[in-house]
Amino acid sequence: MEAVLLIAVGAVVVVALVVGLLLWQRRPSPSLDDSAAAETPTRSVLGSAIRRALGSGIDESSWSQIEAALLAADVGVQATEDIMSAVRDSHPETVDEAKSAIRSAMRAELLDADRGLDLSGSPSTMLVVGVNGTGKTTTIAKLAKRLRDEGRTVVLGAADTFRAAAGEQLQAWGDRVGVQVVRGQEGGDPASVAYDTVDSARARGTDIAIIDTAGRLHGKKNLMAELQKIHRVSGGDQVSEVLLVLDATAGQNGLAQVREFSTAIPISGIVLTKLDGTARGGIVVAVERSLGVPVKLVGVGEKVEDLAEFDPDDFVDSIME
Ligand code: GDP
Repeated sequence: MEAVLLIAVGAVVVVALVVGLLLWQRRPSPSLDDSAAAETPTRSVLGSAIRRALGSGIDESSWSQIEAALLAADVGVQATEDIMSAVRDSHPETVDEAKSAIRSAMRAELLDADRGLDLSGSPSTMLVVGVNGTGKTTTIAKLAKRLRDEGRTVVLGAADTFRAAAGEQLQAWGDRVGVQVVRGQEGGDPASVAYDTVDSARARGTDIAIIDTAGRLHGKKNLMAELQKIHRVSGGDQVSEVLLVLDATAGQNGLAQVREFSTAIPISGIVLTKLDGTARGGIVVAVERSLGVPVKLVGVGEKVEDLAEFDPDDFVDSIME
């Protein structure tokens, strides 16, 4: 009798552990609400500057201080002008009205777009592009880990065959995160690595293929032509995401560098990295305005879990709270 009771209790404990584990794995992904992201320098620096400007009531100097704070946060000249004229035109009479006008005006500068990753297709294929050093490889690792934690199978393609270290770095991340990496010869054809990655994913029934690409070739024209070829052999219109990685600390310069990418291939989303290391996260606004593409994810640290979904409402709220 006691043995039966022990077995029954044991079974209940095992079921509880399994259910607990499943629920833990399905916990929501971090968004800007979560601690790491919510504590970005942008939030504290821009938010405090706006609060300070409105501290002793609303007058002409409040507006010029807010304007300066938006520019310092890299919101960009045109977006800052738009925000300031919308706020002034609303004729706020109280500090709360002013805050609410700034909040709405900032939110209006961000796109109303679907920011979820498109995981359609078998495999769903993602190309990750951007200038070297922006955080492409780290972002791929973060993304692979997140997708794997959600129960999906992932393969990585090391199509940056121009940098000796790039393939090794991706391989090291793949080993750490526990996903397969398809590599080619150093100096070999990047498009053939991309093709092999998608092909391998299809053959093995892998859910998602994420392809790393070079950030620099001999001349911009070559790079753009290479990216177009990679895009074509990876499935062209069937590619589910082309993610452009942008370093938030590079500011308006970074933005100028990537315009070319968006004319060469159809970018579907931006990953803004290093938001943890800058008070100039207003670049989010400038990026969306300038490229017309939504920021889907943000990098908020060097660790593999430091990737958050970008939620424009949370972003604006976190600054204005
Ligand atoms: P790649 O050349 O574009 O592949 O860039 P890497 O992935 O090698 O990253 C370049 C550097 O940026 C590395 O030191 C990363 O740890 C760092 N990095 C990448 N993403 C982030 C981020 O979100 N926050 C911080 N603080 N550092 C990051």
